Amino acid sequence: MKKSRAVTALVGVAAMVAATVPAAAPASAAPLGCQFSTPNLKWKASISNTAAYLNPAQWSAKYWHDTPTPVILTQVTSGANIAIADGNFGNVTFDGATRSGVDQTQAPSCASTGYWATGVVTWWNRYFTDDYSGQKKLSVMVHELGHALGLGHESHSSCSSVNIMETGTYQRYDVCGKYAPQAADINYVNALY
Ligand SMILES: [Zn+2]
Repeated sequence: MKKSRAVTALVGVAAMVAATVPAAAPASAAPLGCQFSTPNLKWKASISNTAAYLNPAQWSAKYWHDTPTPVILTQVTSGANIAIADGNFGNVTFDGATRSGVDQTQAPSCASTGYWATGVVTWWNRYFTDDYSGQKKLSVMVHELGHALGLGHESHSSCSSVNIMETGTYQRYDVCGKYAPQAADINYVNALY
């Protein structure tokens, strides 16, 4: 259980509370170790509660799309590389997760090439996020999309250094108010693509 959680945290979970943030505190953006082979990406909405989540899904994609990077995120209804989804994972340690398989919840799978094998689904965990503001929902999903693009976790104590890949939503959003890609995030995406 413990090992499983640690692996999950590394590959794409926005932890709920600062206490669960790993001790490692890299000084600069860390790669996840898996990314897409192209920056020209298509995403689809796999949203059940469209009233609460479709707009945040579209804005989350737009935030990355609008960054000064090669990344393009076009909304489609089929043939997506990324599905943005709302699900209920219950009272677990994360309020967001990135998993492999556009239509599945399987563990992330990275091909030997270093690219996502089957596409990615990025989740809100509605157990928590149903109570979040629109902006806080963005903070979670922009973070998860960062994992989809290939960014790993970061941990910073000073809000001036906290970026969207900060592990915990408490530090990232409640304390530091970050809900869009920051300069460090953008720099690293430019290094990957
Ligand atoms: Zn994460």
